[in-house]
Amino acid sequence: MESVIERGLARCPRCVAVADYYFVELSPNLLRYEVNCRTCGEAYREEHGPVPPNFGAVAAVDEWLPEASVVPVRERMQAWVGSARLRANAATWRSIKLTQSALLLLQRRGRYQ
Ligand SMILES: [Zn+2]
Repeated sequence: MESVIERGLARCPRCVAVADYYFVELSPNLLRYEVNCRTCGEAYREEHGPVPPNFGAVAAVDEWLPEASVVPVRERMQAWVGSARLRANAATWRSIKLTQSALLLLQRRGRYQ
């Protein structure tokens, strides 16, 4: 049975706006982290077992600018770099909070040493 065991505010991994997050307990050893962004509509889901998640890789380069744009390449590059940097900051910030929260919850319940 799924139950929400923690909720609060986090940054949206997509647009960096303040969004609602939840930890949902799926089973005794499995948590799901959800972010529901009211700004951009992102519904982010991530599942965690009792092993600390291996963060570090920031997937910020999964979108590229449209081709055949009238905007000069140099400006498009600058815009892209700016958004990638924002996304990397958001992901790092979120990951730190997520790791701490998830471990704390699991420790509190005596399921992770
Ligand atoms: Zn968003």
